[in-house]
Amino acid sequence: MTLKDFFIALSENQTLNSVAQKYGFKLGAQSVVAGTNIDEVVASIKELNAQGISCTVDNLGEFVFEKSAALEAKVQILAVIERIHSENLQAHISLKPSQLGLDIDYDFCYDNLEEIVAAAYNYQIFVNFDMENYARLHPSFQLLEKLSEQYNNIGTVIQSYFFESDDNVDRYKDYRLRIVKGAYKEDGSVAFQAKEEIDRKYIEHIEHHLLHGKFTSIATHDHNVINHVKQFVKTHNIPYEKFEFQMLYGFRKELQLSLAQEGYNFCTYVPFGHDWYGYFMRRLAERPQNLSLISKQVFNKKSNTVIAVAAGAFLLGRMTKRKK
Ligand SMILES: Cc1cc2nc3c(=O)[nH]c(=O)nc-3n(C[C@H](O)[C@H](O)[C@H](O)COP(=O)(O)OP(=O)(O)OC[C@H]3O[C@@H](n4cnc5c(N)ncnc54)[C@H](O)[C@@H]3O)c2cc1C
Repeated sequence: MTLKDFFIALSENQTLNSVAQKYGFKLGAQSVVAGTNIDEVVASIKELNAQGISCTVDNLGEFVFEKSAALEAKVQILAVIERIHSENLQAHISLKPSQLGLDIDYDFCYDNLEEIVAAAYNYQIFVNFDMENYARLHPSFQLLEKLSEQYNNIGTVIQSYFFESDDNVDRYKDYRLRIVKGAYKEDGSVAFQAKEEIDRKYIEHIEHHLLHGKFTSIATHDHNVINHVKQFVKTHNIPYEKFEFQMLYGFRKELQLSLAQEGYNFCTYVPFGHDWYGYFMRRLAERPQNLSLISKQVFNKKSNTVIAVAAGAFLLGRMTKRKK
């Protein structure tokens, strides 16, 4: 098992998720999660806006299997929309269909999403449907298509590691799309596994949407990709209004600022909320060096203990499973 697999498996562990929430926020995640409540995230957005950076706001949530939790998430997101409007923030919404009930009941999820999209539509605020694992890919596209019969303020994500993304990037060319490499552990029957192949596909999908699509969000921390895009838009005379760069809150802050200062549209993905654990673990899975980066900056003894306990619990869980 690789370190990446290890952290992805940790991100999917519901027991550790609950433990982490109980232990509180100060366990190492605060450098990449912009607070636990709306006031804190609004303060972070204002700081970024003052630097010429817009934001996409994600109310974190994982493992939503109860309708009450999905409804709670909906209320939070509606409150964020109100704050974006009333405080004139340069920000839009990112949400995960599973948080609004996709794993519970499709129609229930649709109704929740519609309420959010309609509220945002009234204020002309864009809503992005983040993409999760392969099992949720097609239901999420279906939700998007159905809602776009009525609303034009929605878009989604293309994960370049999926074989079918060549088709999807074309099929959804009339949408505002965020193009990413893909963050979840996927099977070799549906997704590329080799980094070189994923990187190659990633560039192809970005170029395709820049040339043929509506608006492109290039969401990456990879400076090679960013430099390639800078050159590509110059060569093809693609205006700056047609694309933006996106990065996650807390990562490569100097690069985020310098891109904004160079005049590119830049948008930071700003996650907030109590349910930060799965998000945090996926960031460690993507780039295990993030562990040392975060340790240096913010890890205190307590958080190292939690990671150690998490690792122990995880290994114990695997051993027990094997025994069974
Ligand atoms: C704004 C945003 C939204 C996203 N939304 C989704 C989504 O909806 N669904 C989904 O599946 N995934 C999403 N992702 C995650 C994405 O799929 C990738 O898993 C993640 O971005 C890692 O890939 P990368 O392109 O950033 O670079 P990587 O392939 O991880 O790294 C490439 C190279 O870039 C450099 N690099 C990377 N990170 C750093 C760093 N922190 N510091 C210094 N150098 C670095 C290194 O040289 C590294 O070798 C999102 C990512 C972003 C940024």
